[in-house]
Amino acid sequence: MKVTLENLTKIFPNKNKSGSEVIAVNDFTYEIPSGKLIGLLGPSGCGKSTSLYMISGLQKPSSGKIYFGDNDVTELSPEHRKIGLVFQNYALYPHMTVMQNILFPLQNLKGEDKLTKDQMIERAYEVAKIVQIDEFMDRKPSELSGGQQQRVAIARALAKYPEVLLLDEPLSNLDARLRLQTREEIKRIQTQTGITTIFVTHDQEEAMSISDEIVVMKLGVIQQTGKPQEVYDNPANLFVAKFLGTPPINVFEGKVEGGKVIIGSDTVADAAGVADQEVWIGIRPEGFILDSKGTMNCEVQNVEVMGRDVSIVSKHEGSVNPTIRSIIDADFISKLKGTEAKFTIKKNKIFIFNKETEERIRIGE
Ligand code: ADP
Ligand code: MG
Repeated sequence: MKVTLENLTKIFPNKNKSGSEVIAVNDFTYEIPSGKLIGLLGPSGCGKSTSLYMISGLQKPSSGKIYFGDNDVTELSPEHRKIGLVFQNYALYPHMTVMQNILFPLQNLKGEDKLTKDQMIERAYEVAKIVQIDEFMDRKPSELSGGQQQRVAIARALAKYPEVLLLDEPLSNLDARLRLQTREEIKRIQTQTGITTIFVTHDQEEAMSISDEIVVMKLGVIQQTGKPQEVYDNPANLFVAKFLGTPPINVFEGKVEGGKVIIGSDTVADAAGVADQEVWIGIRPEGFILDSKGTMNCEVQNVEVMGRDVSIVSKHEGSVNPTIRSIIDADFISKLKGTEAKFTIKKNKIFIFNKETEERIRIGE
């Protein structure tokens, strides 16, 4: 099911007299392709949950439209939208078994959707098998691990055969290892069922790893959409560049002068055709090449060896942060002599941004 959001906006009235109203979601327009997994990504408070609740029908938009396929569902109640919802806290009924939890939404089906007892049990086993919890049907939630509980919640959401699956930070309560495992599990379930899925998270790595497309939000406003790798390789602005990537991008204050990018006293890249101006400069950690003829001079603080790669932590006068981090292939570390590191910067790993608007300035266009 394709989901189309058209100028979706949600304004919450001010709670205290001094405060102004909150525009939680501002003019969100996006087409979620049928059968894909979309990662809705951004820092806490940027409007991710509010967007999801509007898509589910739990919250009414202040303005804008929502379409499921060609149907305008903006005014439709959540029960009639054929959605499955999963939240961060699994929200299972603690006194019910896994089986009873999964059966629960099926017992309320009415009209032509109504199922017989046998059909319900068959359906419960079917979805339990998809999330691989069918051997725990008689257990209570407290007798399951966090990851297993979250899988029960997903099974319960799948039981009604939703056309759209909405997941709000579903992995946040799990420990690191389970989080990794469960996110792969979600990807598998999504691919297997082909249900259009919106996955909300503040964790860029999580979103990047499982999404067909990501939507990056800040303060209620969409910053950029696209395939994870495309957004990483081509950030539209400084916020997106900083939000994606571990370790994060290194940010510098510098300038463009005479068609060159200059940080402090170092000329680090070409910027032919760009007018002279002050800029923010971002260099991805993997964009540094150790090179005795390199033009970027950094003062080495320490070297961290991490198997295949080596991380050089160094200082540069133009850096916004106290240190900069570069990732170098371990084979090249012998080139590092003494406490000064000379780098050449890979062309596709350096970005410049307008000093005021923080929008990307494209080089060579
Ligand atoms: P996220 O899920 O990205 O953390 P939310 O969608 O929950 O963000 O919130 C977006 C903004 O809207 C925040 O500033 C939040 O405080 C505000 N907000 C959310 N729900 C309400 C509400 N019911 N009343 C007033 N403000 C709200
Ligand atoms: Mg939220």
